[in-house]
Amino acid sequence: MKLLVERIKQDGQALSEHVLKVDAFLNHQIDPELMQEIGKEFAARFADEGITKIVTIESSGIAPAVMAGLYLHVPVVFARKRKSLTLSEGLLTASVHSFTKNETNEISISKKYVAQDDRVLIIDDFLANGQAALGLIDIVEQSGANLAGIGIVIEKSFQDGAAKLKELGIRVESLAQIEALEGGKVLFKNDKVEELV
Ligand code: 5GP
Repeated sequence: MKLLVERIKQDGQALSEHVLKVDAFLNHQIDPELMQEIGKEFAARFADEGITKIVTIESSGIAPAVMAGLYLHVPVVFARKRKSLTLSEGLLTASVHSFTKNETNEISISKKYVAQDDRVLIIDDFLANGQAALGLIDIVEQSGANLAGIGIVIEKSFQDGAAKLKELGIRVESLAQIEALEGGKVLFKNDKVEELV
């Protein structure tokens, strides 16, 4: 997705060879117009899949997921990383190790909102080693719902998440694919090396 790739080139910061900071438009400050275009793109790619529900994980998955839900006209459910007082029974849970925070969270979704007759699209901001996606897939499987695929805003193709999901036969649609982060530079798949500010 050209608009997204241009924005990463403009505002992304390679913090190391593994971590890309995009808190100018996705992970902290959010650009609603860019999110709208991202939502439109996910909706177009999954238009023929009969999606009835979008599932994501708090917090950075929520903005792109809500925009996709808007264009697919379906509700969005986000997995919580902490137990909530109002969300304590009838939970589907999975364990997820966070790549950026190096901690393991029990994530959960209420059974009430993902059911057997749902066809689910999972959306997340980043795909690195696939732990968040695998946790969400686990929850969708526990619910008995059917998984249509996974929409990712930024895939770091040099980590093994995308390969793991494809091995499982899961459709993965990534709007930007990064081949490498090298000395402050980002190399996109099918693109040339770009200098990051
Ligand atoms: P995974 O579970 O695939 O290893 O990592 C995906 C999760 O870790 C995403 O939900 C995202 O929040 C976070 N993450 C992974 N890599 C990056 C990165 O390079 N930058 C940022 N900002 N978050 C990342």
